Amino acid sequence: MNNHPEGKLIVIVAPSGSGKTTIAKRLLNDFPKVQFSVSGTTRDPRKGEKNGVDYFFLSKAAFDQKVENNGFLEWEEYSGNRYGTLRSEVDKLMKSGYFPLLDVEVKGALNVKDSYGSDCVSIFIQPPSIDELKRRLIKRGSETEESLALRLKRAEKDLPYASRFDYVVTNDDLETAYKQVKTIVQSFIAD
Ligand code: ADP
Ligand code: 5GP
Repeated sequence: MNNHPEGKLIVIVAPSGSGKTTIAKRLLNDFPKVQFSVSGTTRDPRKGEKNGVDYFFLSKAAFDQKVENNGFLEWEEYSGNRYGTLRSEVDKLMKSGYFPLLDVEVKGALNVKDSYGSDCVSIFIQPPSIDELKRRLIKRGSETEESLALRLKRAEKDLPYASRFDYVVTNDDLETAYKQVKTIVQSFIAD
């Protein structure tokens, strides 16, 4: 994957429920030069999610069309839905001098890392335990019994990949975890 937009980007990767959205939102608030790269997905919007802000919510056919047209930098299946990083988003942000922030699952993150090398910093957010992950997902109230089970199964598969990323941060206490992530991003964008 060598034909990609030029620039530097930040990848946050974590099993679902680890707190990466929470951490990513704080980063976006603290660093005006960092902007969220809105992905395309075939999953349904959750309560409060907006099209074009949280995701571009696409039909399966529209997603496939974008795959055909090489519209994704990478894309993967996750818990029965498809998710992909849009070239158009990354390109637009980089051209405007921003650092795109990607919130992607493990396989997608590894692909982006392979593609961007040292122009990418990857941070794996780890939950303190699978039990705590389960508690957080239940508390978030976003999952059915079935999707909860799928996400926990996937988390068990993904956790061993933590060491493949540039940094691993355990999100036990949110303030402590966020401070670590902030320091990593600060030094990456200052470089
Ligand atoms: P992800 O984006 O990784 O799926 P979220 O950011 O949505 O995760 O977090 C999952 C849930 O856990 C949310 O309800 C969030 O408020 C909560 N949460 C995040 N970090 C912590 C933490 N350190 N301790 C307790 N709850 C947390
Ligand atoms: P959720 O349904 O909880 O929003 O996201 C499920 C998983 O898909 C998360 O791990 C999230 O990081 C990942 N994801 C979101 N967008 C993308 C993307 O563009 N590409 C890939 N590979 N994964 C994504």
